[in-house]
Amino acid sequence: MSAPGNPVLSLARPEILTLKPYSHAAWLPSLTRLHANEAPWRPPGDTTEAGLNRYPEPQPEALVERLADLYAVPTANVLVTRGSDEAIDVLSRIYLRAGLDAILQCTPTFGMYQVAARIQGAEVIEIPLDRSRGWALDVDRLLAAWQPRVKLVYLCSPNNPTGNSLGEAALEAVCKALDGKAMVVIDEAYIEWSRSPSLTPWLARFPTLAILRTLSKAHALAGARVGALLGHPEMIQLAKRVIPPYCLAQPTIEAALRALRPDEITASRARLDALLTEREYMRRRLQSSPLVAKVWPSDANFLLIDSHDADRFMRDSIDAGLIVRDLRGNPALPNSLRITVGTRAQNDALASSVEAA
Ligand code: PLP
Repeated sequence: MSAPGNPVLSLARPEILTLKPYSHAAWLPSLTRLHANEAPWRPPGDTTEAGLNRYPEPQPEALVERLADLYAVPTANVLVTRGSDEAIDVLSRIYLRAGLDAILQCTPTFGMYQVAARIQGAEVIEIPLDRSRGWALDVDRLLAAWQPRVKLVYLCSPNNPTGNSLGEAALEAVCKALDGKAMVVIDEAYIEWSRSPSLTPWLARFPTLAILRTLSKAHALAGARVGALLGHPEMIQLAKRVIPPYCLAQPTIEAALRALRPDEITASRARLDALLTEREYMRRRLQSSPLVAKVWPSDANFLLIDSHDADRFMRDSIDAGLIVRDLRGNPALPNSLRITVGTRAQNDALASSVEAA
């Protein structure tokens, strides 16, 4: 791969551009496989259609097509990954050189962006979200912090753990200003619960935009590990050089294909709506707890709260057999906890456990 006139290439590590990728066994399902050193018998308990004795299809075509359909993008814009965690890892390995490059992230935010950058030996530049404006993105400050060694700019919308969407206008301003200067990575892990639409149509406008999606949340497949990196076809080609060839396990591929059948998508939309009702129910119940100072507005499947007595909140919920996420290790969230919205019974149990003063 050469001629880095396209910024998705010129921003990449030169050694990835010149890398000769691993050549995996050809995927020719109509032929009997005597070319991949597999066992010819199935292992005990194998319920997969394809057989666990066989290496799975790299970048399974049927799944790529279903995801492209779901996210309304061409198949050339899709890389299937082991959760969006792996998409973050792949981006880091393509774009970050140790001791030279940096990422920008807006904090508090999802922890894997900085972990993946530090593993790669890159610097992490943090721009605080504006708490006084509901954790809004400070676009001017973010753009002022950009410098040529910033290769990845992470924007999580809706943001974990604050729950708010960053807003189309702010995201568009960043995409416009940094187009061609850095890979702008918008993480839409929770977008299915948001009032804001997915920004996948913007991939046609901004070549250096990448979008992360996952089946872990709205599609209830966290245990299967399926995510998607969406972006420019040349970035996807780079990513295919970096990702391990058989990364998705066969049971995972089959589980994802089952979850993405049209009837299942329809059923999952109803479940998403029901969860929104639960989120509002939970917001009201938590708001009336004497231990809760504030419930932040949420566009995701969780609620960020500030507590008058977070130790007591944690203790009372654990005594009732429930665990919520303690965020107080983050200096920006000294009294905060994050509560995932569950079933009505789980939500009632949590709300009841923290009702007494
Ligand atoms: N992005 C965000 C914002 C998350 O909160 C998470 C997980 O909680 C992920 C990405 C990773 O999700 P997965 O690897 O399961 O797709």
